[in-house]
Amino acid sequence: MKRLLILGGTGDAANLIERAGQLPGLTVIASLAGRTPKPNIPRSGLVRIGGFGGVAGLIDYLRREQVDLLVDATHPFATQISDHAARAAAVVGIPRLMLRRPQWEVQPGDHWLPATDSSGAAALLPGLGRRIFLTVGRQPLPAFAHLQQLWFLMRMITPPAGDAPTPPGQILLDQGPFTLTNEQALLTEHRIEVLVSKNSGGGAAYAKIHAARELGLPVVMISRPPLPTGEMVSDVEGSLNWIARNQL
Ligand code: NAP
Repeated sequence: MKRLLILGGTGDAANLIERAGQLPGLTVIASLAGRTPKPNIPRSGLVRIGGFGGVAGLIDYLRREQVDLLVDATHPFATQISDHAARAAAVVGIPRLMLRRPQWEVQPGDHWLPATDSSGAAALLPGLGRRIFLTVGRQPLPAFAHLQQLWFLMRMITPPAGDAPTPPGQILLDQGPFTLTNEQALLTEHRIEVLVSKNSGGGAAYAKIHAARELGLPVVMISRPPLPTGEMVSDVEGSLNWIARNQL
């Protein structure tokens, strides 16, 4: 039996955990950060929840649990865990794969303004509109907190910490997938003038981009941060092929 650790937190990770769990000769351990109140936990197999304690903690874990293979299927903006995974796998000497869904590409009718990070996105906003739909999660909110003259509809899964600086506006706790109809209604109801999004890719969060296109709204699109070097695939099938090749 080989032991596979899958670092999760995405829809693709949940699918991969399910599919890999059905492969013979493989024990799958799913790892989640434990940030969401209703995590997508696999129906069978082993699940661990919470941080490892940095690179050193992950190295200890990989050795203690005798992990043979590692798939990093975390979110494209979860840079710290991907960096830790790359460093720990190299120290322990096990194969590591990154699963990253393709990023969204600009379509005819889109009006995207690229930003390299949250601060860059915040700097663009005053010239674009007063009512902003901010869909970047809770962690980047402080980067927008100084924009007191604007109003923000801030959608996220878990609320920010009570003492975290946040911009003026309304917090909306919700989790995808979202539909085009609902996103258009939300943008219209709140008289949104600008959308801010990370380039997360995938289908579950794309309806807001489509809705902004339909309504002719500008989108401040935060580009993906760089990834560690290493083998990478863009879908679950590619991951299963990699697992099969490395299981031998
Ligand atoms: P991050 O900044 O890269 O990671 C922060 C710390 O959280 C890591 O150092 C690690 O703690 C722990 N961690 C992260 N993912 C983990 C996992 N799968 N299993 C065990 N520990 C994990 O990550 P983040 O941006 O806070 O995201 C947290 C989780 O939410 C990730 O699993 C990611 O896939 C998911 N997610 C993130 C975003 C986003 O926009 N960032 C969006 C959707 C989902 P230790 O150092 O203690 O090991």
